[in-house]
Amino acid sequence: MDFSYAVEDGVAVITWDLQAKSMNVMSMQGFADLDGLVARGLSDPDVKGIVLTSGKKDFAGGMDLNVLAKMKEGGAETIFAGVMDMHGVLRRIERAGIDPKTLKGGKPIVAALPGTALGIGFEIPLACHRIIAADNPKAKIGLPEILLGIFPGAGGTTRLVRKMGAMMAAPFLLEGKLSSPKDAKAAGLIDEVVPPEDLLARAKEWVLSEPDIVKPWDAKGYKMPGGAPYHPAGFMTYVGASAMVNGKTQGVYPAAKALLSAAYEGALVPFDTALKIEARWFTSVLMNPSSSAMIRTLFINKEALEKGANRPEAPDQKVQRLGVIGAGMMGAGIAYVAANAGIEVVLVDSTAEAAERGRAHAEGVLDKGMKRGKVTADKKAEVLARITPTADYAALEGCDLIVEAVFEDPKVKAEVTKKAEGAGIFATNTSTLPITELAKAANNADRYIGIHFFSPVEKMNLVEIIKGRQTGDIAVAKALDFVRQIRKTPIVVNDARFFYANRCIIPYINEGIRMVGEGVSPALIENAAKLMGMPLGPLQLVDEISLELGVKIAKATKAAMGDAYPDDAVDAILFPMAEKGRLGKKAGAGFYDYADGKRLGLWSGLEGDARPDLETVQHRLMMVQVLEAVRALQDGVLTDIREGDVGAILGWGFAPWTGGPFSWLDMMGAARAAEICDGLEGDRFAVPALLREKAASGATFY
Ligand code: NAD
Repeated sequence: MDFSYAVEDGVAVITWDLQAKSMNVMSMQGFADLDGLVARGLSDPDVKGIVLTSGKKDFAGGMDLNVLAKMKEGGAETIFAGVMDMHGVLRRIERAGIDPKTLKGGKPIVAALPGTALGIGFEIPLACHRIIAADNPKAKIGLPEILLGIFPGAGGTTRLVRKMGAMMAAPFLLEGKLSSPKDAKAAGLIDEVVPPEDLLARAKEWVLSEPDIVKPWDAKGYKMPGGAPYHPAGFMTYVGASAMVNGKTQGVYPAAKALLSAAYEGALVPFDTALKIEARWFTSVLMNPSSSAMIRTLFINKEALEKGANRPEAPDQKVQRLGVIGAGMMGAGIAYVAANAGIEVVLVDSTAEAAERGRAHAEGVLDKGMKRGKVTADKKAEVLARITPTADYAALEGCDLIVEAVFEDPKVKAEVTKKAEGAGIFATNTSTLPITELAKAANNADRYIGIHFFSPVEKMNLVEIIKGRQTGDIAVAKALDFVRQIRKTPIVVNDARFFYANRCIIPYINEGIRMVGEGVSPALIENAAKLMGMPLGPLQLVDEISLELGVKIAKATKAAMGDAYPDDAVDAILFPMAEKGRLGKKAGAGFYDYADGKRLGLWSGLEGDARPDLETVQHRLMMVQVLEAVRALQDGVLTDIREGDVGAILGWGFAPWTGGPFSWLDMMGAARAAEICDGLEGDRFAVPALLREKAASGATFY
């Protein structure tokens, strides 16, 4: 069993310690075991109350998502029954033997959290009578379910709304906001924060203090904080929340709407009926293909990739000493994330001043962290001390991995490679240049690899690892172990123009610009993208990236492709705008107008009021990305569809509700996708053979 039970000083201590994993996660068996132990404590006359805690440094990470996937296989009835079972267990904890008529009796049950408590790992404490957390600054407390396309369905939604009111609960439920123990206490999520060494003693002390344990919603005369839906104040909350949720999700995330419905409908009925309503909405969300696709991509497969699903057999390649050449925007970011993960970094630029500026960037990031209370002065000093800025290439001696992030110029890169290549692995952060070509400057092409970070490095979690034709297994293992050290998510792809992510995102941007050229209303283009769940419309995206970079890439692509270049119509809009100095957000002018860095509206100089139907615009914007992903797979650039889906969402924000382009294709069916593309004009919508085959045979990608 994954729980132990001991009676100490008249208090039963139930300790959760999952043997097979480093973090506790809940399963149906776990619930049954917990239920049995709670019943044992409640019925033992020598026990005055129960402490529920964990034998690990954290309390629990949530539900075992593989269990959810299994439940789903059994269909809606299995899910509903399973969820109602969980409600039963938690309700027995909450009622704790209290006489429902007199509200007398019962035994106090307290949750004592040593560290992180997420998802169901926080829903269980919410059913207890008190939540005490250790003052552990690394701990995160909250309900992140919404980020996986589901919502707290083990009573978390119903309890939190009844505890704090809909308005106050909204950021924790609808945004999945996580808090440190201190912040959780301040917000009213938990009751007490104590020094870690006092946690158990304090929990027992509370149990023995004969506290009042009847939950407000089980007591007579309970009033919903902030007002129930038909109360004047509550009414405003729900009307506002509904508008806000629709505004933020554009209606494409079923979970947010279901959550709100569960909260609203639940607020109109008694507590136990509210739990039933919550269970029904949860079932409906779990049955929606979007939630399974999101869980599969953003949790199961993302974690598998992080744990090295595609790592070649090789001894541990953890980086001891990292060299970074080029202390510009990217190099400085790479130096920072590595130093922050405990790696010694030598940061080289052409001059000592430039290298120092790179280190100053890290200092800036740390200062921001300090302002937000996330970084201590000691931590800042520690991280900065790990970065040695210099103009002296000799300092790279002993680096087992070197990443260059100098100008995007093959000549400069070749020169740097020759100068710096040592005994270790040499990597380039190029975003456009073929790795196999760049590797020609290296003595050991098998030790040369692409490690492509996205900007801003501190925030973007995807790292694209690119194998040149001669790149060896050790280099791949090194890159993967490095990415794991800095806690980012890797995908491994083969060498080709623009690798994977940029290959798909550039056509999306171009399709938007192309439509501007066709006279389509720019607002329609942008909104069509957002209504499909793209975080940014193509025009806003190119403004963020800069039109200057767009022009550079277009020119280089045209030079490489010659007559086959397909994007002159895009350049006809892009180039004149760049020439006018409308270079995007940084320049304060692009497809949008800006004032003091704030985006105002679309630039009035853009012409076009043609309004093709919304669906056609959406199909063009989405299919142009999806087909490119299929071609990448067909060409062998991608070798694993899991990487294609994870990379799409993390790398360029491909509509997360879909679970990624391959999941989306499976959801709609290859035949329907092919039919849509056949109805669109232009070679870029020609259906790749791989998709055509699947359409004919009815096969899926997963
Ligand atoms: P940047 O211009 O900000 O920085 C380049 C740095 O390299 C400068 O500090 C420059 O002084 C230094 N440098 C140039 N020649 C050097 C040499 N011979 N020795 C040492 N240092 C030298 O550029 P960036 O945006 O950081 O891009 C760097 C690389 O990363 C490029 O290959 C780019 O394609 C790639 N990249 C950029 C982005 C992005 O969004 N900017 C994203 C992914 C990859």
